[in-house]
Amino acid sequence: MADNDDVPFNRNFPLKPSIVEEVRPGVRRVLCDNPSPFTFTGTVSYIIGQGNVAILDPGPDSEAHAKALLDAVRGETVSHILVTHTHRDHSPNTMRIKQATGATVYAEGPHRASRARYESEKHNPESGADRDFSPDVAIASGDVIEGKGFRLETVATPGHTANHMAFAWPERNISFVGDHVMGWSTSIVAPPDGSMVDYMASLERLAARDEELYFSGHGPEIPEGPRYVRYLIRHRQAREASILRRLSKGAADIPTMVRAIYIGIDPRLMTAAGYSVLAHLEDLVARGVVVTDGDPVIGGTYRLAS
Ligand SMILES: [Zn+2]
Repeated sequence: MADNDDVPFNRNFPLKPSIVEEVRPGVRRVLCDNPSPFTFTGTVSYIIGQGNVAILDPGPDSEAHAKALLDAVRGETVSHILVTHTHRDHSPNTMRIKQATGATVYAEGPHRASRARYESEKHNPESGADRDFSPDVAIASGDVIEGKGFRLETVATPGHTANHMAFAWPERNISFVGDHVMGWSTSIVAPPDGSMVDYMASLERLAARDEELYFSGHGPEIPEGPRYVRYLIRHRQAREASILRRLSKGAADIPTMVRAIYIGIDPRLMTAAGYSVLAHLEDLVARGVVVTDGDPVIGGTYRLAS
């Protein structure tokens, strides 16, 4: 969500759907025509390598986008399909690409929540989970995925989803970071699928690596990735401080906090903003800084611990 000006966002991304852009040697990107307040101009799929390639994030259930990807690799061999996470704008097209190419699908695992659902908690209809997805090969952090002409290292980056993976290409100084880090906006961290504690730890893990150039699931590349991640970390720390400042004036529910913190927010993003606040509150409750009656849920009322 583009909700703050303290991060140096870049929303300049003129790529048009279905156009194949070779953005670096061995890195092509193809935009899917699924723009929205959550996906910016749409999902960006990547083709990694040349002649023998991996396709990263085949995108939503879209025949047109699958065709654009398959046209882009005509005459080449697709040996790998890599999936950063199981949201409906990233993974459902995997089946089409797999059927057409016979490639092996690599991802952390099927969709799962970051924690067990509380009894009082309803399913978040905006979570956008692709519950039909399952990889051929389940990957863990530090695994090496090698094709002819590319050697990628997996970096577990839970937080946006529990199964989110980044793929580093150390020889090229590149990381494919999915929706964990995006140049156009902050990422949505919505419990129970997402977790703020995991997300912050994943930012640290990524920023500690050497790769500088990040390619995201939406929007333009990020030239100084680790530096940009530092801005994101500070942004979340500032958001947490805003929540505590609001609670210092008395108990509040989440809509009240959203109105106090997200000034001028796009109304379509209000629900997502509420879940982001919940992600912070969940962490604050776990640390004993904030209390609530019962489990920390979206409908709860929160106050500072005395
Ligand atoms: Zn996405």
